[in-house]
Amino acid sequence: MLATNGVMFMDELGEFARAALEGLREPLEEGVIRVARAAARATMPARFLLVAATNPCPCGGGPPGSCQCDDVARARYLRRLSGPLADRFDLRVVVQRPAVDQLLGAEAGECSAVVRNRVMAARTLAAGRRGKLNAALTPDELDVFAPLAGDARSVLRNEIERERLTGRGYHRIRRVARTIADLEAAGAVASVTDDSTVTLAHVELALSMRASLRGPAASDSRWIA
Ligand SMILES: [Zn+2]
Repeated sequence: MLATNGVMFMDELGEFARAALEGLREPLEEGVIRVARAAARATMPARFLLVAATNPCPCGGGPPGSCQCDDVARARYLRRLSGPLADRFDLRVVVQRPAVDQLLGAEAGECSAVVRNRVMAARTLAAGRRGKLNAALTPDELDVFAPLAGDARSVLRNEIERERLTGRGYHRIRRVARTIADLEAAGAVASVTDDSTVTLAHVELALSMRASLRGPAASDSRWIA
């Protein structure tokens, strides 16, 4: 697969056929695609970073207040993205329409070069532990390299008991929290230290970036996963 080791961006995820979307589950989980034909079977590498965006409803929202979609139409649209597939996204973020002041404001965001340096420092930190990035850490490795503070573990236990977090989601949250901690350490700039414990603040931030795709969403919002 040509996308292996690359980034695949799917815009308007809700417009894809459900069967096509479900076909992503195997490569997202195992990093391979298996093709079976009458004469032969083949397994091809397909480890890639999936980035996707979708509107919350078929009409796409449009100008504020213009959405005509009812709850049934919205629910049908979002059902294209199954729970098991949504569970495989590490980050699910609701993007609200920017306020007028934000659009017209002169305040400049952070320079991309600065962000890049911080990300590269965090990647170096992660790769220095086990020779791979946090996304590839196994559950056993997470226990060693991303130990949870007691209160962070309690919050995750509560999420699982209330059925807001699956077993797969639990490990994904831990990897994201590890990365947040690494970015925090990398932001210290002067000396990048590897404080190995994942704190409650890291876990809560990771949970906040794992929004439910089933809950009510403003008509002018947009999902980025
Ligand atoms: Zn609509």
